[in-house]
Amino acid sequence: MFNNNTDNKPKIIIANWKMNPDSFGETDNLIKIIKKGIKKSDNLKVIICPPAVYLSKIKANSGFDLGIQNIFWEDRGAFTGEISAIIAKNLKIKYTIIGHSERRKYLNETDEMVNLKMQSALKNKLSPILCIGETLEEKKKDVTSGVITNQLKKAFKGISNIKYSISNICIAYEPVWAIGTSKTPSIDEIMSVNLLIKKTISNLYDRETAEKISILYGGSVDSKNAFDFVDKTGMDGLLIGGASLNGSEFARIVNLFE
Ligand code: PEP
Repeated sequence: MFNNNTDNKPKIIIANWKMNPDSFGETDNLIKIIKKGIKKSDNLKVIICPPAVYLSKIKANSGFDLGIQNIFWEDRGAFTGEISAIIAKNLKIKYTIIGHSERRKYLNETDEMVNLKMQSALKNKLSPILCIGETLEEKKKDVTSGVITNQLKKAFKGISNIKYSISNICIAYEPVWAIGTSKTPSIDEIMSVNLLIKKTISNLYDRETAEKISILYGGSVDSKNAFDFVDKTGMDGLLIGGASLNGSEFARIVNLFE
């Protein structure tokens, strides 16, 4: 059986700001509110993923670890509008979200593209935050386990050496029907997906790898439900969309884990 006691791993709280805020002034203000609201904690990692154009300006004065919301899979070249893992890395960005369901839905991002982005991120020592999760239709058909297993197998296909960055890889379980809807899975459902992810990673690699990767929950998290989604499920942290755009609410969530 897998160890569901993750107390020795730092908890990870990630803010995914998506295509917000509208200006750097508002971004700066949001960062200041979050910074002011967060009490220090040694065993906690807070990662902010703003729109890419704000990354370098935030970097200079925030003190937070930063993630980019997307990368392209090639290192450089004629790919208008795209940003490579190398560009992000050279901006001292540590993390990249890969395979968010909004990109899968609106930009037709496939499992194959997700796999190429995983390879590029790992090759360039950028830590992936891989998003997986079932749609409402898939949940209704009771095929969640198959969907999760398949997404994981395809995302990690052909990636043999993840050893150097295992402890920085995050897998975020984000049921598509829970994103921005105020609907959430039960504690038991989240717990069983957590174990399924560990089992699948263990089968693909080994048990040590499965224990070291951080597994997060995302989908309609707020300061009322956040603690239980981690404390009662064995999850290592949270990926937060809507609530991360309210600086004091986001700080309240972070402070639950100090
Ligand atoms: C997300 O988009 O990653 C997310 C979790 O959004 P929300 O918290 O708004 O449901």
